[in-house]
Amino acid sequence: MSSALAVVVQTPAHSGLAGPLRYRSELALAPGTLVRVPLGTRETLGVVWDGEAPGLAEGEARPVTAVLDGIAPLNLAWRRLVGFAAGYYQRALGEVALAALPPQLRELDAAQWERRLKRRKPAEPVAPAAALPPEPSAEQAQALAQIAAAPGPFVLFGSTGSGKTEVYLRAVQDLLLADPQAQALVMVPEINLTPQLQERFVARFAPLFGRQALVSLHSGMTPAQRLASWLSAHAGPGAGGARIVLGTRMAVFASMPGLRLIVVDEEHDPSYKQQEGARYSARDLAIYRAQLESRLASPGAQVGPARCRVLLGSATPSLETWHHSRPAAEGGKYQRLAMPSRVGLGRLPAVRLVDMNQQPRKTVFAPALLAAIAERIARGEQAMVLLNRRGYAPVLACGSCDWKSECPNCSAYRVFHKIDRTLRCHHCGFTERVPRACPSCGDIDLAPVGRGTERLQEHLEELLAGLERPGAEGEDRRVRVLRIDADSTRHKGALETQLAQVHAGDVDVLVGTQMIAKGHDFRRITLVAALNPDGALFSSDFRAPERLFSLLMQAAGRAGRDAAHGAASEMWIQTDHPQHALFAALRRHDYPAFAKAQLEEREQAGMPPFSFQALVRADARTQEAAQAFLNLASQGAAGLPGAGDISLYAAVPMTIQRVANVERAQMLVESPSRAALQRFLAAWLEVLRATRQAPEAKGVIRWAVDVDPLSI
Ligand code: ADP
Ligand code: ZN
Ligand code: ZN
Repeated sequence: MSSALAVVVQTPAHSGLAGPLRYRSELALAPGTLVRVPLGTRETLGVVWDGEAPGLAEGEARPVTAVLDGIAPLNLAWRRLVGFAAGYYQRALGEVALAALPPQLRELDAAQWERRLKRRKPAEPVAPAAALPPEPSAEQAQALAQIAAAPGPFVLFGSTGSGKTEVYLRAVQDLLLADPQAQALVMVPEINLTPQLQERFVARFAPLFGRQALVSLHSGMTPAQRLASWLSAHAGPGAGGARIVLGTRMAVFASMPGLRLIVVDEEHDPSYKQQEGARYSARDLAIYRAQLESRLASPGAQVGPARCRVLLGSATPSLETWHHSRPAAEGGKYQRLAMPSRVGLGRLPAVRLVDMNQQPRKTVFAPALLAAIAERIARGEQAMVLLNRRGYAPVLACGSCDWKSECPNCSAYRVFHKIDRTLRCHHCGFTERVPRACPSCGDIDLAPVGRGTERLQEHLEELLAGLERPGAEGEDRRVRVLRIDADSTRHKGALETQLAQVHAGDVDVLVGTQMIAKGHDFRRITLVAALNPDGALFSSDFRAPERLFSLLMQAAGRAGRDAAHGAASEMWIQTDHPQHALFAALRRHDYPAFAKAQLEEREQAGMPPFSFQALVRADARTQEAAQAFLNLASQGAAGLPGAGDISLYAAVPMTIQRVANVERAQMLVESPSRAALQRFLAAWLEVLRATRQAPEAKGVIRWAVDVDPLSI
């Protein structure tokens, strides 16, 4: 007798096959079991799911080819998490479930799987000699006590260097020592940028639980490494597996049977939002997952005990998170834990604004800023200059005619990179050697317009050429300017080498993009300068000021991290708008004041977190087709469930309208009610799918829904 099974497999996007498919098996297989099943002419990985799959009569269903046994089924919490994510982000269940599994797992057939399982490593002996962790400060101790005493979710609001990481370490340690079956998930925005954090976790936990107790999950790992980490997390402490998973956004889907704590470091960081496929927010899913784990642990209870806690940390929380953590009396649902002081570090830097209206036109460095940098160098300290644009110049232009380095495939200019004399499109990647003469008129007078990090580095080297840094007789004492950006760090290991140069003091001035503003624990930097960050003040994206404030606060946090150097650390900002309220709040390091002003504006304008949004994006051969598709689908929305509470805006071209010869348009969907938006989107998806077949939509290449989009 064979029985019918619901199995989730990867089906094509927008195919309408959103749920599990029906298969049959001789064995009774528990939900969560991994199986190999036929799909069309292929064989593919599937996950046995709960309930029944509709469709084929039992006799017609095809049999499961093989069972990947030897490991426990994926548990109910994991299946619910995946089910929720698929529903909420409007994607097929199979797409989300299979994407949440390590890629190598999808490729192994039954024989390969068996061989792979045999290779699992035995646990190593526990490493000796732990360095004694620091005694928590009063603020840290209070935060930890609050975390232990309440269910959360918690928002750890602490300035840069307030000791947030130390709170994460302690919370994880307390949990793992108290409960031998417990696991913790720690998420960071970009693991490549925070090798230091990983070292701190290894140093703290390897002596306590063995090196194998800590695994990583991020896209920089090889498929084999990812599978090994995944299997270890999935095995859980009971089977000698991982106790701590340290990972990027993808780690939110790690299978962890003993999950009791989720930490989301730098929770405001946009890289927690996946930007293709299922566009999930790992931060938001972390909140959901913790609540789900607690709910499933005590079914029926209205407010169960907190079996799994979640802790979001930031010096500049996202406005959504900040709003959720307002006092409970005002409706806040998260508990805010404030740590305003810096531990063991210098004071936060004094913020100085340079009014560029008072400077001669085309000034790159105001003389006062240059003098301040020179002074730091003379004292053997380091300075950091932030410019959020890489390359030499954003445009190359002809002096005789109106030729500019436009990309033939995109509505954007190609960036001039002087180092390898190329023009490179940062959107489609199209790269050519810089032409010897103007392609349009033949003149050889081609000149860079504007400035990127490459040019800034060159300029600074010239400006500082006459200076010497302190040093011994006979030593090379010329000033060293290092640049760190996506170009300088393209090769594996380059970033680590360059950061090590900064830490070793082999660099006097560090120039770079936002890459250098995040997380690094530079000890000798005492001056940070941001050149012309004004674009974000008047951007059409309502989140631009929030991102700028956060970036500048983070950058400021790189200065004065060592009390021995940081007595008078400074952050300089060159701006045309020194009177802007954003800078006034920044001067006082006053995130709450900034957030309050922004939230008032958002409430008045009915924008998130006071409303809920989704974007539908369409790519097509022509802009007309992209827009026609969206507008037609919009006409079909009347009368759908939830439609009464929905505003649908007209289709508009995206800011960069054409990329790689594809025209792009988008349509904003907004509602004061998250539930109404969800109901509406689920129904509207059918309309969108049908509209795609209409003659007007000919030329549409692809479309996608982005729920809670981050950039508009
Ligand atoms: P954040 O994550 O908020 O930037 P960290 O946890 O990295 O802060 O702490 C900043 C620095 O202070 C680190 O060098 C850390 O080792 C040190 N530190 C943190 N907590 C303590 C403490 N309780 N006692 C002594 N030093 C501490
Ligand atoms: Zn020309
Ligand atoms: Zn291009």
